[in-house]
Amino acid sequence: MLKMNNVTKVFRTDLVETHALRDFNLHVQEGDFVAVTGPSGSGKTTFLNIAGLLETFNGGQYHLDGLDVSNLSDKERSRIRNEKIGFIFQGFNLIPDLNLFDNVDVPLRYRGFRSAERKRRIEQSLEMVGLASRMKHLPSQLSGGQQQRVAIARALAGEPRFLLADEPTGNLDSKMAHSVMDLLKDINARGTTIVMVTHDPLLAKQARRNIFVRDGKVSELHEVSAFAEDETAASKVANSKQ
Ligand code: ATP
Repeated sequence: MLKMNNVTKVFRTDLVETHALRDFNLHVQEGDFVAVTGPSGSGKTTFLNIAGLLETFNGGQYHLDGLDVSNLSDKERSRIRNEKIGFIFQGFNLIPDLNLFDNVDVPLRYRGFRSAERKRRIEQSLEMVGLASRMKHLPSQLSGGQQQRVAIARALAGEPRFLLADEPTGNLDSKMAHSVMDLLKDINARGTTIVMVTHDPLLAKQARRNIFVRDGKVSELHEVSAFAEDETAASKVANSKQ
């Protein structure tokens, strides 16, 4: 479970103070799939970076899997991040001169897994994203959607409890974006909790829950079924006017 209570984040430079998050409150239950939307600059990436222990914060509490992670040392934060969290970014961040196998291997080597364990995880995660037959290919030999799948495989190889995705479909055309979304839904159905920032309302509606962030706060929270009901209500009104 991911639980933030009144989390505040202020970026300070010599001249300016930016309140990126103000009393940010969110509970994400195990197995949830939350899509985060909101205007540019509203704090979505800041929230995700704090959730993923990439960024510290100034006030409030954050519990991850029941552990208070508000005041950890850098070393502890990094250990918990490696153990529990996988990241996916808009720019797939693959290494161009490494093949798919070696790209997925990079974080596993860093974490010191033995060769047989790394091989098992790499093959299993590339299988999961449908690219097991392309292990020896370079990223440049794949489509954008396939490259994002490799980035997802690299995140999955860490066997994370939480997958945090920042605009994972932002560089993809609509067809590829929907196919990556289908993959994320599949991963969620197998038990991984997902939090995804997206500008795309159609993709957001496919998550289990939507939150809308404005001015550094959660301003709305919807069960997705609520969206479906809203639509039904809206179409009834539209029909009644015809
Ligand atoms: P977008 O949709 O455009 O990516 P966002 O909702 O993800 O935006 P954030 O990137 O979280 O917004 O930024 C929230 C606010 O914090 C913005 O005003 C931004 O300028 C500011 N900000 C973010 N990172 C930093 C930083 N490292 N230093 C100073 N200000 C920052």
